[in-house]
Amino acid sequence: MSYPPTALSLPLPCVQGSPDWQRVDFISDVHLEEREASTFDAWVHYMDHTPADALFILGDLFEVWVGDDTTDAFAAQCTAVLQRTAQRLPVYFMCGNRDFLVGTGLLQTTGMHGLSDPCVLELGAQRLLLSHGDSLCLDDVDYMTFRAEVRQPAWQQAFLARPLSERQAVARALRTQSETRKHTHTDYADVDAHAARAWLGATKCRTLIHGHTHRPAQHDLGQHLQRWVLSDWHADTTPARLEVLSWLQHEAHSPTQGLRRWPLNQALAS
Ligand code: MN
Repeated sequence: MSYPPTALSLPLPCVQGSPDWQRVDFISDVHLEEREASTFDAWVHYMDHTPADALFILGDLFEVWVGDDTTDAFAAQCTAVLQRTAQRLPVYFMCGNRDFLVGTGLLQTTGMHGLSDPCVLELGAQRLLLSHGDSLCLDDVDYMTFRAEVRQPAWQQAFLARPLSERQAVARALRTQSETRKHTHTDYADVDAHAARAWLGATKCRTLIHGHTHRPAQHDLGQHLQRWVLSDWHADTTPARLEVLSWLQHEAHSPTQGLRRWPLNQALAS
């Protein structure tokens, strides 16, 4: 059984890339949290040194975010990094399923631009469709039901009105639930190829870029349509999972349309 695909309200919001952008970076699923210090350090290094002209963060930057009024020291550190990066280059932020409660407060503090999920990015003649990806994992019926509930403005207002400590407790309980589920389920839902093609067709895009599934890859969807999947970030595994997707203007006419997945060290060295 499949859940009906998330309806698109067309036309989608569209970000117009600057003709001056030689390189655009895409990252997602960094899952920043205090206890993952090496991943945090790698991310800080990347943010301070990427030679990209613009950065698109496509969801789950944070392992959890229970509201922009979060006061802990780790959130403050992350905010400071985002702030100084956004002073150096334009930074665009899309929410994922872990950090869907990032709101205008964090965007204003950091100077990042908010992105709707999905949205279109125009780079010259190219139209890229950007999404976190969770809304296309149609086979995960339980999650799709949960998502439909928590993405309602009324649910979010009510949740954000609860004391911070209560919200943190809810987040911890959800996380335990999800960890338990990981141990009992071995088959994870993936992006539904049919739905991805339908989205691309409806938005006149040829390329979908998303994260969420932690299955970095480049998929040919037929009819000149492509799906590029971003890597999650994990510095403490061997080999480390630290990867960036870049769009390079000077390769825009290549078969990959300028897109290149590369390990963090290469992405920083170029
Ligand atoms: Mn996700």
